[in-house]
Amino acid sequence: MSSSNNFKYLYGPVHSWRLGNSLGVDLLSQKEKKCNFDCAYCQIGKTVEYCTDRQVFVDTEKILNEIRNIKNKNIDYITLSGRGEPTLAKNLGEVISGIKNLRKEKIAVITNSTLLNDESVKNDLSLSDVVMAKFDACNDDVLKKINNPPSNINFKDILNGLYSFRKIFKGLLKIQVMFTCDNVSLYKEMVPLVEHINPDEVEVNTPLRPSDTKPLDKNKIKEIKKYFMVLEEKKIKVVSVYDKEREKINVVTDRNILIRRGKEV
Ligand code: SF4
Repeated sequence: MSSSNNFKYLYGPVHSWRLGNSLGVDLLSQKEKKCNFDCAYCQIGKTVEYCTDRQVFVDTEKILNEIRNIKNKNIDYITLSGRGEPTLAKNLGEVISGIKNLRKEKIAVITNSTLLNDESVKNDLSLSDVVMAKFDACNDDVLKKINNPPSNINFKDILNGLYSFRKIFKGLLKIQVMFTCDNVSLYKEMVPLVEHINPDEVEVNTPLRPSDTKPLDKNKIKEIKKYFMVLEEKKIKVVSVYDKEREKINVVTDRNILIRRGKEV
């Protein structure tokens, strides 16, 4: 590959406050976002049509070919996310195994947690080192307001999926709670639910990247984090999006690709 701009399915690395230097892999790579959520704060815009069935969007070999051409050594994680929900990609497990054969970096997957009751999704995710799972709601009304799923996705299934996945997953499970004006008043109700899931870490987040949703200010996030700190007694680490100043690093793919995928540099 002659130029870094030839990458079609890789983007970054971007500096992530959660993972350090993270090289992104987009298993979906379609013009339209492929997701079964329509989050109010989504950086890549509205979901035009829900995608609910797992399918292969990009051949595994095409992705692995690009992975073979990475020259950059300054990468902490290879992160599977992209334009939508990566667990919708039926070849998720195959891609993770393929990357592990080629690279030494740890693999993270960012998921919206909707498919964790599906055995094949659980098995695929179990091959990764870190799973970062979205959990923004404490009931169906809040789920509707923030994540706006289709009618066959409900709060209870998401909670049960996370709980059962935790039981089998040997890697690091990080729960990410995005706080906005739609769920901020309910933050105390989130704490026992997170305790029930029993992740390794919970991230108190608010949308700092460009979207239609206004982020909560530092003081509010500090207050929420303080309340969540009770979880540290249960060995659940608590971090917040404002904990670390964001750094800029060199990228291997061009800036337009990052912008298209809703990533800031
Ligand atoms: S789950 Fe992610 S990609 Fe899907 S709508 Fe929400 S923020 Fe956007």
